[in-house]
Amino acid sequence: MSGMVFYKTDEEIEYIRESCLLVCQALAHVAGIIRPGISGAEIDKAAEELIRDHGAVPSFKGYNGFPATLCVSVNEHVVHGIPSRDQIFREGDLVSVDCGAYLNGFHGDSAYTFALGEVEEEVMELCRVTNTSLYKAIDAAVVGNRLGDIGFAVQQYVEREHKYGVVRELVGHGIGRELHEAPEVPNYGKRGRGPLLKEGLVIAIEPMVNLGRKEVRTEADGWTVYAKDRKPSAHYEHTVAIRKDHTETLSDHAPIEDAIRKNENVQLVELKTETV
Ligand code: MG
Ligand code: MG
Repeated sequence: MSGMVFYKTDEEIEYIRESCLLVCQALAHVAGIIRPGISGAEIDKAAEELIRDHGAVPSFKGYNGFPATLCVSVNEHVVHGIPSRDQIFREGDLVSVDCGAYLNGFHGDSAYTFALGEVEEEVMELCRVTNTSLYKAIDAAVVGNRLGDIGFAVQQYVEREHKYGVVRELVGHGIGRELHEAPEVPNYGKRGRGPLLKEGLVIAIEPMVNLGRKEVRTEADGWTVYAKDRKPSAHYEHTVAIRKDHTETLSDHAPIEDAIRKNENVQLVELKTETV
């Protein structure tokens, strides 16, 4: 990632939106077919076909040598899990699915964590809090705020109010012609610190939250990041564009959630509405 921040034009933002919506269509397709008994390889193949059928290319496949279209990270796996035929989902699994697509010269990026079947209530709560923290972060991503305000919003809600662990080693990022552009967007930070957020900035915001402690390690495959204490972890991601007087979420989880409502094998993760 170079240190240069590329502010996007309206036209570029529309291209990124198109890529993001395709990503979410692929994730919605996954949401419709995922269930206990199916494998990571099967959902990966389905997502890749959908992306290629739309004339796009999976952003992750070949990125630094990553071998698949999706990152599929189960339970204590935080991110960057490699989908495989041996990765068979089971009742009660928490399956985080991250996807990127490249279309018309621009990338889109989004992620969603699926709760399969009867998931323990403490794990459902982790999902609700993580998903809600994403929207709190987006609310903080406005012109006039600073980069630190985004991370502060996540950390304040997730760690101080809900006592979960925010992963430090992995962060959100600028996105556009490259999958990962400057700036890095940490899920922790200090209010009012860091560079000013300006019109035209497009970033992927992606809280990764551990039920237990925040520390992570990498499995022997060299990719899969896991919670060191082997407790479950959740991950939700949107790509957003900061406009002059509002922030637009370019990715869209509504089609994913619609597909979940129709899939009896997956539990919907509601947003928390408590005011604190
Ligand atoms: Mg992603
Ligand atoms: Mg990302």
